[in-house]
Amino acid sequence: MDLGIRGKRALVCASSKGLGRGCAEALAEAGVDLVMNARGQEALEQAAQEIRDRFGVEVVTVACDVTTPEGQKQVIDAAQGVDILVTNAGGPPPGMWTDWNREDFIRALDANMLTPIALMKALVPGMIDRGWGRVVNITSQSVKSPIPALGLSNSARAGLTGYVAGTSRQVAPSGVNINNLLPGIHDTDRAASLDGGVSKKEGISVEEARARREATIPTRRYGTAAEFGATCAFMCSQHAGFMVGQNVLLDGGAGNQTM
Ligand code: NAP
Repeated sequence: MDLGIRGKRALVCASSKGLGRGCAEALAEAGVDLVMNARGQEALEQAAQEIRDRFGVEVVTVACDVTTPEGQKQVIDAAQGVDILVTNAGGPPPGMWTDWNREDFIRALDANMLTPIALMKALVPGMIDRGWGRVVNITSQSVKSPIPALGLSNSARAGLTGYVAGTSRQVAPSGVNINNLLPGIHDTDRAASLDGGVSKKEGISVEEARARREATIPTRRYGTAAEFGATCAFMCSQHAGFMVGQNVLLDGGAGNQTM
């Protein structure tokens, strides 16, 4: 399917690895020029070069922490005039509800709620002026099925979800579509680190930890960054013009719900 976005330009945050990288690659395959971001410069440059070589699109890199005001200024400066925005950053640490103080909540809200909001506030007005735009926020399955140990993430992502629900409907008349993409477990460094944690805690091998988690998913496997990226690219395509304020879940059927 031709996604109809060849020649457009996208900012994909936190995209040297994992789900962000999957989104960057799928957009590049559709002919979209990219602004890519991550903190580690070496991995970012390598990912950018691989994408240029493979898909022949232009890629600008911005190595910075997108959750800081300085980092946001850098990516926003580099991304002036983009048609597509994919927001992403690492998730907050797990714990017990008694573990977190005000500063922990402020950090989580900054990273996973206020950063995407700041990027939308900076880049959506240009999309509105040009009469076309797409925003995909990478959030989490925890928006639909909160995960008890991820209280910081549950809180911040719920806040972003509420913001998007209202804002997406305010900007839709201008041809700008804002939606959220919710990963369940996907085969990335983060999943490997979660399996490593379970392995240590339960005294089992990492392979056993993964096998146990896979057994709980109807597909009996983890999702891939390529599958995730393909869904993101569709949500950024011409064909997604009637999709507004949705929370699209990719979890292999793990969450037993209808909405
Ligand atoms: P990942 O494999 O650990 O990749 C993270 C990517 O983001 C890397 O390129 C990393 O590069 C970059 N990054 C992280 N923090 C950043 C920051 N503050 N500023 C700029 N770049 C940053 O993670 P992932 O699995 O793709 O997860 C992406 C998001 O989806 C996270 O918020 C995660 O909580 C959420 N999620 C993932 C899963 C899953 O199963 N994978 C499930 C549910 C939710 P640098 O380290 O060099 O910055």
